[in-house]
Amino acid sequence: MKRAYKLRAYPTRPQEGRAVRLLVDHCELYNAALQERREAWRRHHRSISYGDQSAQLKAIRAADPDGQGRHSCTAQQQTLRRLNASFGAFLKRARRSKGKARRVGYPRFKPYQRFDQVLFVAGNGAKWQPADAGRWAHASFQAVGRVKVNRHRPEVGRVKTLQLKREGRRWFVILVADIEAVPLPATGRSVGVDLGVARFLTTSDGEIIANPRFLDAAHQRIVDLQRRKARTRPGSGNRSRLRRALAKEWRTLRNQRRDFHHKTARGLVDTCDSLALEHLRVAAMTATAAGTVEAPGRNVAAKAGLNRSILDAGWSQFTSILVAKAASAGRRVILVHPAYTSIDCHTCGTRCTRSRQEIVVCPVHGELDADLNGARNLAARAGLGSGQATAA
Ligand SMILES: [Zn+2]
Repeated sequence: MKRAYKLRAYPTRPQEGRAVRLLVDHCELYNAALQERREAWRRHHRSISYGDQSAQLKAIRAADPDGQGRHSCTAQQQTLRRLNASFGAFLKRARRSKGKARRVGYPRFKPYQRFDQVLFVAGNGAKWQPADAGRWAHASFQAVGRVKVNRHRPEVGRVKTLQLKREGRRWFVILVADIEAVPLPATGRSVGVDLGVARFLTTSDGEIIANPRFLDAAHQRIVDLQRRKARTRPGSGNRSRLRRALAKEWRTLRNQRRDFHHKTARGLVDTCDSLALEHLRVAAMTATAAGTVEAPGRNVAAKAGLNRSILDAGWSQFTSILVAKAASAGRRVILVHPAYTSIDCHTCGTRCTRSRQEIVVCPVHGELDADLNGARNLAARAGLGSGQATAA
C-alpha cells in the first residue's frame, strides 16, 4: 500500500537556484521529447514509445555533460514517463471522441514557469534523511543538494519516491512510502455515510457531522476579496496585492479543510468495521451544488462557482482520504452506485418527493430526514443491513 506525504521544503538561496535549473533542464527534456513525437507523427505517421526515448538518454547525457548530464538518469526517465502518460491519456481521449465533432487537445509544450515538479526514485539521485526526533529532516537531490524539510507529520514506511515541487514561491517535497496495513480491532459498527450540502455528513445510525464553520467565514472573505479585486485596475499594484491575498485565503482554506477531512475520516475508521459511501460522480455533484444556491441575487453566478469548487474538492478529497485510512486499518469501504439513494424511501423503496433540501416525503412513511434516508439506503445497498444501530 502506498501513502503520500507533502512536506514544505526550505532550500537555501543557492539550492533554490539549482532547483530552478533542475526544473528548466527537465522542462527542456520534456519539450524535446514531445517535439520528437510530434515530428515522427507528422512526417512518417509513426508513434514513438517511452522505450525509444529512454534508450536515447545515454547519448543525450554524454553530449551535454554540463546540462542534462548532471542530472539523475532515473529522474529523467520519470519525466519521459510523464510525457508518455499524457500521450496515453491523449490517445484514449482521441479514441473515445472518434466520429464526434469535438476536437481533442494534443499534448502541449510546457512553458518553464508551468513545469513545476521532478520525480526521483529513492536511492537513485535522491535520498530521504528523516530527523531523529526534531521536526527538521533533509532530502538530498542530485544537482540541487541537501534541502531542509519541515517534517510536520512523521512519515511511516519505506520511502520509495521523492518529488521536488514548486508552488508559486514555495517548495515542497512529496514522499511516497510503502506501508503495511495495521488492522484495528473490530467494533461491530457498520454504517452508510451520506455526504451532504447542508451538513457535511450523516451516518445511517444517526451520527451527524456539521459543515465546519471555517467554510462560511472563508467563503465570505473570498467573495469580498474577489469583489474588491474586480474593482481594481488591471496591472495595478492594488490588484496584485489582492490577488496574493486571495491565493493566501484559498491556501488556508485548503489546509483547514484537509485537516478537517483527516480528523473526520479518522473518527469513522476508528469506530466502524465497514463503511458504505456514494461512488462520486463529479457531474452529478456539480448539478447538486448549482441547484442549492439560495437567495438568488447579483452574486449568484460567482457564488455558485465558489460553492461548487469548495464542495467538489471537499467530497472527493474526503472520500479518498477515508479510503486510504480504511485500507491501512484493515477496514472495508464499499462504494455504492448512488442512483436514487437520496430520493427512495429506505423502508419501503417507494420514490419520495423532495420539496425542500433537507426533507423527503414518502407517500407511505411521511416526512424523512433526507440525509439520514440517503445514508440508510447506502448501507442497505452495500449489504450492511439498514445500518441503523440498536433501533433495528
Ligand atoms: Zn416509505
